[in-house]
Amino acid sequence: MFDLSQKIALVTGATGGIGFAIAKKLHALGAEIVATGRKEEALLKLKKELETRINIIPCDLSDKQDAEKLIDTVENITGKIDILVNNAGLTKDALFIRMKDEDWQKVLDVNLSAAFFLSKAAVRGMMKRREGRIINISSIVGAIGNVGQANYAASKAGLIAMSKCLAQEVATRNITVNCVAPGFIETPMTDAIPLEARNSLIAKIPMDRLGTPDDVANTVAFLATDEASYITGQVIHVNGGMVMI
Ligand code: NAP
Repeated sequence: MFDLSQKIALVTGATGGIGFAIAKKLHALGAEIVATGRKEEALLKLKKELETRINIIPCDLSDKQDAEKLIDTVENITGKIDILVNNAGLTKDALFIRMKDEDWQKVLDVNLSAAFFLSKAAVRGMMKRREGRIINISSIVGAIGNVGQANYAASKAGLIAMSKCLAQEVATRNITVNCVAPGFIETPMTDAIPLEARNSLIAKIPMDRLGTPDDVANTVAFLATDEASYITGQVIHVNGGMVMI
């Protein structure tokens, strides 16, 4: 059960808290990993930790050409991509009326457009092989919104809608496209939340704790397996019961 050996998985944002955990979990199930992010040092740390079946490719996904080139580069190295995890993401929070146009655009570019470019390029090979998994990391705020996160929430809601469209278009080719929507997870992204705000957040979570990167990685790993082959176009919420939808 849950065997990913012989599978090639491309994980974006593998230098961050959740991406690192996803790469490690897919690797533990037997997959060969291609890890990408901007921080070369963090990629080298992952390579050192996993030792085998790991390729690292630094890439800035805010650059459309770099993003488009990434899939070709990966396929040249590994021959195919079985599992694409669009996990890279960033926040640039501000109240709506103060949000800078460039911060709106930057967040949409990395969180949504890069996932579109990568999925479009990777799905071609998946369609030929009649097999594939695309897993997009959305967020609870893509479903319910959040003060100061109009750009981020729009990007995460956009990922959900995009995934449902692609899921319908490629379902007959045995390709599944799903989203995992984490609640609040302990990573560098949430480390910035001040203590008081953090405690009031935890008070809203029935499980009385923030999630861990492994909570998210386990869900991603399941969606990547053969056992999840009849699940497509879905959003799996991993939020400790904070929102039940
Ligand atoms: P994180 O630790 O800050 O990691 C973010 C990752 O995105 C890093 O690997 C970063 O790579 C990559 N990234 C950002 N901008 C990039 C760019 N221009 N080009 C390439 N890569 C870029 O955050 P995290 O918490 O692990 O978040 C992972 C995903 O989960 C994100 O999509 C986030 O929105 C989502 N999420 C997180 C939470 C949470 O509570 N933490 C909740 C819901 C959803 P470099 O640093 O190397 O550039």
